[in-house]
Amino acid sequence: MRSESFSRAKVMMPPPYLTDSLFASIPWLVHGFGTRVWGPEDFGKEGGWPGARLVELEQTHSDALHFIDKPPARRLQGDALATDGSGLLLAIRTADCLPVLLADLEHKAVAAVHAGWRGTSLGISARVVRALGERYGSRPPRLVAVLGPCIGPACYEVGEDVRGEFLRRGQGDAAFRRSAAPDAAGGGKYVLDLKAANRSQLLGAGLRPDAVADIPLCTHCDGRLLSYRRDRDTSARLYNFIGIREIGDG
Ligand SMILES: [Zn+2]
Repeated sequence: MRSESFSRAKVMMPPPYLTDSLFASIPWLVHGFGTRVWGPEDFGKEGGWPGARLVELEQTHSDALHFIDKPPARRLQGDALATDGSGLLLAIRTADCLPVLLADLEHKAVAAVHAGWRGTSLGISARVVRALGERYGSRPPRLVAVLGPCIGPACYEVGEDVRGEFLRRGQGDAAFRRSAAPDAAGGGKYVLDLKAANRSQLLGAGLRPDAVADIPLCTHCDGRLLSYRRDRDTSARLYNFIGIREIGDG
């Protein structure tokens, strides 16, 4: 039934995905940050949204963004999706990388961003804000964003090469700190705060500080979540998603 497509039929405990109160207060918005017990098959089941279409990317750690108004015939390559159409669930798969979900309250548009260190060094979050402005007329002060769970700075040691890439791309190194215990090979000289880097990009692009929320969980520390660095699992991913309810939904 169309009117049920975005209504969760049943409340599951523990919740299979996490939500943010800022986004949950927006009636036309659907969103979630996946846990290890929430997979792509669950979107169409009871407790999911059987009427909605899940849209996934072939993620490549780029800064490529796709605007869509219907499900693509095949997976597009890129690391951000945006739409102002209803009935689509834009998905970003992560296991330590940062998922950023954005909503334009004025123009009723949404975006989902995959921000690992490479995408962040390319300025993907700022790029998406600019692109939303060009495509939908989105004004940054009317955008809200939620930074989902990702590997936290305490757990995310990186080498000089990663910091060098940020500097080379003009992103600066404000999100880097010297590691307390660099590894013997010098590979973990710094810790990187992915959320700080992307928050900085969003604020730099014009979002209000109180319009950038955060799910304060570390994928590496929290056993409900998936961490590539902890699990060394090359396939399992968290499903993070955002969409616009069908018109007429309750
Ligand atoms: Zn951690």
